[in-house]
Amino acid sequence: DKEKESNFIFSYIDKDLEDGIYANNRVHTRFPPEPNGYLHIGHAKSSLLNYRTALKYHGTFNLRFDDTNPEKEDMEYVNAIKRDLKWLGIEWGENEFFASSYFPKMIEFAKEYIEKGVAYVDDQDMETIKQTRGTLTSPGVESPYRNRSVEENMQLFQDMIDGKVAEGEKVLRAKIDMANPNMNMRDPIIYRVRHLVHPSLNKEWHVYPMYDFAHPVEDAIEGITHSLCTLEFEDHRPLYNWFLENLDEFQNEPPRQIEFAKLNLSKTIMGKRYIKKLVDEGVIDGWDDPRLATISGLRRRGYTPEAIQNFCEEIGVAKANSTVDTAMLEHFIRDDLKTKAPRYNCVIHPLKVTITNWPEDKVEWLTIETNQDVEEMGTHKVPFTRELYVEQSDFMKEPIKKYFRLYPGNEVRFRGAYFITCQDYVEDEEGNVVELKCTYDPETKCGTGFKGRKVKGTIHWVSATEGKPVEIHMFDSLLKDDSRYTLDNIVEKVNQNSLEICHGYAEPEALKMKPFEKAQFVRNGYFSVDPKYSKPEHPVFNQVVPLKSKWRP
Ligand code: ATP
Ligand code: MG
Ligand code: MG
Repeated sequence: DKEKESNFIFSYIDKDLEDGIYANNRVHTRFPPEPNGYLHIGHAKSSLLNYRTALKYHGTFNLRFDDTNPEKEDMEYVNAIKRDLKWLGIEWGENEFFASSYFPKMIEFAKEYIEKGVAYVDDQDMETIKQTRGTLTSPGVESPYRNRSVEENMQLFQDMIDGKVAEGEKVLRAKIDMANPNMNMRDPIIYRVRHLVHPSLNKEWHVYPMYDFAHPVEDAIEGITHSLCTLEFEDHRPLYNWFLENLDEFQNEPPRQIEFAKLNLSKTIMGKRYIKKLVDEGVIDGWDDPRLATISGLRRRGYTPEAIQNFCEEIGVAKANSTVDTAMLEHFIRDDLKTKAPRYNCVIHPLKVTITNWPEDKVEWLTIETNQDVEEMGTHKVPFTRELYVEQSDFMKEPIKKYFRLYPGNEVRFRGAYFITCQDYVEDEEGNVVELKCTYDPETKCGTGFKGRKVKGTIHWVSATEGKPVEIHMFDSLLKDDSRYTLDNIVEKVNQNSLEICHGYAEPEALKMKPFEKAQFVRNGYFSVDPKYSKPEHPVFNQVVPLKSKWRP
């Protein structure tokens, strides 16, 4: 119901319902992933769009695995896709289908084309077929096998089905029009020969349908009304319709293809085959590498389903391709975690601080509000001790203009604790500052209402003795820039500095977090416990996003 009203797809559907095209106002959508990789944010857009459309019209939603290409497909991917869709909040109940289960039916449909004289077996090889298609400005050349008799075509197709034809020796083609201005209509291939054992059919199968034939037929078999697909299929639509118009079974209420723009995100790899290449080459840490915009990568990074849902709703659907700024996706996770995540102190690049007037072994457990924006989240205890850590960037030997943090002689507020004055600093042999000597003023304790004087800077800190070391993964875009990538150059396009591993310190409360739990680390952003590398004795956090946004709604 938060769904945007300005969706052009809804207008088409409304019109179809008004015109009574589909009986009982039924609306039936599907999401048809090919199980040849993990889902990415583009698939989230498409699956949520199909699912929400079905919900809006009280219709039906199918999940269909488009497993017509077994060389590249795998059950691992089927399971990953189901897990990711469930996590996104999509429910399909019993409506889970495999296109391969329609293979016998599809063969019957192909025979119907042959009987009707609109399909023929072609002995030309793929290369010749490609070369005789013609160009946008010149017609193609008809195949010498185009006018075979129905009987001969039927026999040859049966030979293909029975495994008697070698791969590449024959194909079945639609007999449409080699001079059609739309290249897709120039006798497209319907079936090719491959001698494979199909994994979900679990038996030898010798003919495999091409996408342009398989897709409309799969849609029609399932009773889909509106087949939403991406823009590159727009000029395949006449072919989509042709395949259905030539089958008796689908004369009533055939599905209608509607195209929408693909989602592209800046500096983000979208295509499964590019991601697979990086996975196979070991350039990244698997399909769920937190730098990827795969659903599993985003989940591991610390994204929530709500953030992705809201993002997909906000971008809506369009009829023109464009690239969305990744900063917009980040806005939605920040927005979601703002009121969900507790706020803890964690120092990412630690610099030691000794409070010289604080007793050696004294631990004071201060009470701090867990989220200043959400009172119900209550408070938690934070230990203050003589030895602490602050961020290296919170100290300057010689402060620049408007620098209000630690420098010799300056006083700042340690968040939730005391006013602290920097008295001195210690350098190592190379001149690096390795420790600050500071004092605290007991009268300035937070929560006591101290009004004696003001300080301009407030910084976070962690007890060096009660806090614990943590590993923190900071990320930058996986791609160096938005230049075009191919399978050949994708590895070189990867930003070598996209992962920075830091060794920080976190307050005790942050160490109780479990895999996938998220917190705001004050001033540093939102962080999530990495499910793969984090161990109770060795916590690992992924930075989800920094706090500051470039993007405004
Ligand atoms: P990729 O090129 O990333 O492998 P694909 O289109 O080959 O994607 P499929 O599994 O065939 O992947 O796609 C399932 C559905 O998801 C299709 O309907 C497809 O149009 C849609 N889809 C894929 N990528 C995007 C995207 N970037 N934006 C929106 N929808 C997408
Ligand atoms: Mg595909
Ligand atoms: Mg693909």
